[in-house]
Amino acid sequence: MNEGLFQSVNAALQFAYNYQGSPVLSVMNRMGQVSGAALGKGLAGVDGAAQAGMIKRHVASMGKFPEALIIAEFAPRTYPCSCRSLCCLGYTRNQQWSDAVNNIADIVRIEALGEHKTTHPIRRACVEKFFGCSVTQTRMAETLDIHESTLSRMIGKVRRYLTQQQDQVMMGLEDVLNCVVSKIY
Ligand SMILES: [Zn+2]
Repeated sequence: MNEGLFQSVNAALQFAYNYQGSPVLSVMNRMGQVSGAALGKGLAGVDGAAQAGMIKRHVASMGKFPEALIIAEFAPRTYPCSCRSLCCLGYTRNQQWSDAVNNIADIVRIEALGEHKTTHPIRRACVEKFFGCSVTQTRMAETLDIHESTLSRMIGKVRRYLTQQQDQVMMGLEDVLNCVVSKIY
């Protein structure tokens, strides 16, 4: 992808799912994730929005589960909120991210945790853990009211399954996005 807009599939996805206008671009630029060509082509503004949309459509074309894996990995969990209501926490949940995690939790019920009796909150916790949730296993086990060793085994199974699935999706995207990115360029 040497001639392309982005230096990697990773950078393209990072851009697409965090696109909110030029601030993101300047962050990515600082991180060295956008090539000089991208800056010259005007990634900000309408072009940026169109490119983010195109990348997302290509991801969506791979199917609901692959898309959920990408959203869970790359989309923000929360957005800053400035509504100034007294009970505002300063952020709002990204519903799209939450939906993606729920979809994945449904899939792992059979695909990874078939041997266990699980509830949706347990499955969701395992999936959130995979995507970097900072709550400790001990705390999770307490909240879910299950043994920590059981939870730990389930988290391990979900991790192995999702790692494998994610690798496949990222490999597929190398093809799908490589072509898009060079067309944009
Ligand atoms: Zn608010």
